[in-house]
Amino acid sequence: MDMYADIILEHYKHPQNHGTLQNASVTHEEYNPLCGDKITIQLLIENDKIKDVKFVGKGCAISIASTSMLTDAIKNQSIEEIKKLDKEYILDLLGVDINPARMKCATIGMKTLKLAVYHFLINNHKKVSEKEFSVKEE
Ligand code: ZN
Repeated sequence: MDMYADIILEHYKHPQNHGTLQNASVTHEEYNPLCGDKITIQLLIENDKIKDVKFVGKGCAISIASTSMLTDAIKNQSIEEIKKLDKEYILDLLGVDINPARMKCATIGMKTLKLAVYHFLINNHKKVSEKEFSVKEE
């Protein structure tokens, strides 16, 4: 039985935007204790837009593939657009049904991305709350 769509395995084997940025505006890491996934995202932010993004991670196929797809999809998006990203966005990218028990694997990349933007804003003395950048997983 095929557990995952081919595209997920393809992104898992050959992640897009994998690596590190020399000139990152912000670096953020998140860990999913349920599965052991660990994702670090680096962003280059200019004029409130994502100019470049790289990530490194260790984890299951869903966590790596969803982060790979996400980093491809969000290039040149604005901070406002990143703020609005939700669980459905990542599920649409993955294109498969995700078991509720694996939802944190699917959303860890997005969680890392949004909190990276949050920390970038905080570092730049913007008044934002972490809640605005949370990802609902239910
Ligand atoms: Zn996982």
